[in-house]
Amino acid sequence: MNYYSTQITNLIEELRHLPGIGSKSAQRLAFHIINMPQEHVDHLAEVLVTARKKVRYCSVCCTLTDTEICPICASTKRDHSTIMVVEHTKDLAAYEKTGQYNGVYHVLQGTLVPSMGKGPDEIRFKELEKRLDQDDPRIKEVILATNSSLDGEATAMFITKKIKPRGIKITRIASGVPIGGELEYIDEVTLSRALDRRIEL
Ligand code: ZN
Repeated sequence: MNYYSTQITNLIEELRHLPGIGSKSAQRLAFHIINMPQEHVDHLAEVLVTARKKVRYCSVCCTLTDTEICPICASTKRDHSTIMVVEHTKDLAAYEKTGQYNGVYHVLQGTLVPSMGKGPDEIRFKELEKRLDQDDPRIKEVILATNSSLDGEATAMFITKKIKPRGIKITRIASGVPIGGELEYIDEVTLSRALDRRIEL
């Protein structure tokens, strides 16, 4: 039964499709938005539309950014000979928050999901190979920092197998990151430690 007006129902429905938002949260958010001053709602809508339009993948590391090359790839202060491979831009953000990493990244935008048949063409792995092909500057180390979930491990193993013949040093972030751990929820100290104690594969 439709208790609310169609407009409110539409809003609740749209919000409910966002990750982590159940029916109750969607309802709460919808009423919050409806009670916000008009100019705040206009601003929110504008920010959403602009972000969606402008944000794209960095042409080097594939992170989400709003410039052709993201600020990290464009920075001359970063060590471009070390590439940390992460699953998502939020993982990159988690490592940036530690302030302990000065290399650059490669964002796969996902993992292999062997159980669902999701293969390397569905993540940004080719782009990583292309970077290694160009090898400019000389890439000294690739740090595999995919999550320690089944799919994260499968992805790390796959990448190792593929790039090992190139003779580049490949390391995996150490345990301390709990099994099945989602990088973004792990505190900065644990994350720094996992990076410090990375092991060579
Ligand atoms: Zn980049």
